[in-house]
Amino acid sequence: MILIVDDTPENIYSLKALLTLHSFPVDTAAGGEEALKKILNNSYALIILDVQMPDMDGFEVASIISGYSKTKDTPIIFLTAANTDKQYITKGYSSGGVDYITKPIDSDILLLKVKTMYRLYEQSRRLSEIHLDLLQEIDQRKKAEKAAYEKAAELHSTLESIPQIAFTITADGGLEYTNSKWLEYSSSPAEYPPTHPEDIDLQKAISNSVMTREPFETEIRLRRHKSEVYRCHLLRVMPVLENNEIVKWAGTFTDIEDQKQIAEKKDEFISIASHELKTPLTSIKSYLQLLERESAGNAPFSLYVTRTLSQVKKLDGLIADLLDISKLENGKLLFEENAFDIDRLVNNQIEMFSHTYPDYTISRTGEVGQPIHGNEPRIEQVLINFFNNAIKYSPDRKEIIVETRIIEGDKLFVSVTDFGIGIHKEEQQKLFDKFYRAPQASSGFQGMGIGLYICAEIIHRHHGTFGVESEPGKGATFYFTIPLHKTNQ
Ligand code: ADP
Repeated sequence: MILIVDDTPENIYSLKALLTLHSFPVDTAAGGEEALKKILNNSYALIILDVQMPDMDGFEVASIISGYSKTKDTPIIFLTAANTDKQYITKGYSSGGVDYITKPIDSDILLLKVKTMYRLYEQSRRLSEIHLDLLQEIDQRKKAEKAAYEKAAELHSTLESIPQIAFTITADGGLEYTNSKWLEYSSSPAEYPPTHPEDIDLQKAISNSVMTREPFETEIRLRRHKSEVYRCHLLRVMPVLENNEIVKWAGTFTDIEDQKQIAEKKDEFISIASHELKTPLTSIKSYLQLLERESAGNAPFSLYVTRTLSQVKKLDGLIADLLDISKLENGKLLFEENAFDIDRLVNNQIEMFSHTYPDYTISRTGEVGQPIHGNEPRIEQVLINFFNNAIKYSPDRKEIIVETRIIEGDKLFVSVTDFGIGIHKEEQQKLFDKFYRAPQASSGFQGMGIGLYICAEIIHRHHGTFGVESEPGKGATFYFTIPLHKTNQ
């Protein structure tokens, strides 16, 4: 908007008409004081100021305006009557934002000057807007940089405080930060620690994880600079996310050598103990079987002997499981695979369990109708385990359903369903882990938590799958699938 300041209404009128005709928005003031009031309240792109005014002359007005920070850069065109005025103008205002025009006004020249001044004002206004935006952006960047720096510093001090070897990697895979423990294993913060020659290539594995954007975990052997001995470490590389974007990766090497050795010792102990227990137990069992035959009909001894024998058989089963575990761990669980009749096997087990647990109804649906390939005694072991669990964990509703069928054209599917205590969703995945028992089972039912672990290993060796579907309080279905025919895996 342009402000015209003149004490002569005719002048105002004609100037206003001229500028409005050329599409300039115009405001007017009839004297210096009114002009100053308007200037304080509004923003003007240009002020056209009559020099000769009765109350306050144009120069006075201009000098006051130049004192306000808001208006000091507003361009002014003085309207001068006499030539003498010109020297004041050039003397007082040399900023370039000031011009003059003599009366009588030549409208073409005035328009030319107004346009130039207006353009000048617009440009400088745009420049100061850009300047302001730039300042804001610089400020924001500084703040973001500071926040990122603080976050990184926080992460680094956390990684420094933990006992593990720790490091961070940039989003594109470059080693970024390493804690001081790193230097006990690597000669430089810029190099990965050397690993055992038989282990995987660390750099490659980590680059691969960064490329595929997948967290990474592996066991790897490292040794300290001055040591000859490698120790097993668990390497974990996890993405650090910000607004769901991977901004970097954080990694740790945890020394797990001691845990590994303890676990090995425990496995060794289980192996030795179960072996040593097995021999005397086998002879106890044989003598008890002899006694059972000898004491037949001799009540109450025959009953005592039968009960003892049944407990010894349970003990024998537990020891067999423990032996299996140690064999599995040492890779000594041998699997000879042959074709066998799964329908016969399932029917035999149903008959046997129905005989042992007459109060349970065990029914079967589906038939396979063809021989399958696998290790019969081990598949039988899985089935017995599923049956035993189904009976053990359903003390109130004594009904069990076994289903067998062929799926996907070439796979055997076997499931055992009970209507017992069931398992919570969050427990279900853990049931196949070694020694895991769901809390509701551990309180009321005896067991060691190894049966399903062995089943899982057996099915795994058959290149099959296994799982459970269950709702607490409604029962459970344990199932497995294995290829019908020999595979080359
Ligand atoms: P165990 O029965 O000796 O504890 P398993 O390895 O056979 O060991 O089973 C592991 C756990 O799985 C059990 O402790 C129990 O919590 C759960 N489980 C297995 N079968 C069933 C089932 N049919 N119903 C409910 N829970 C079951």
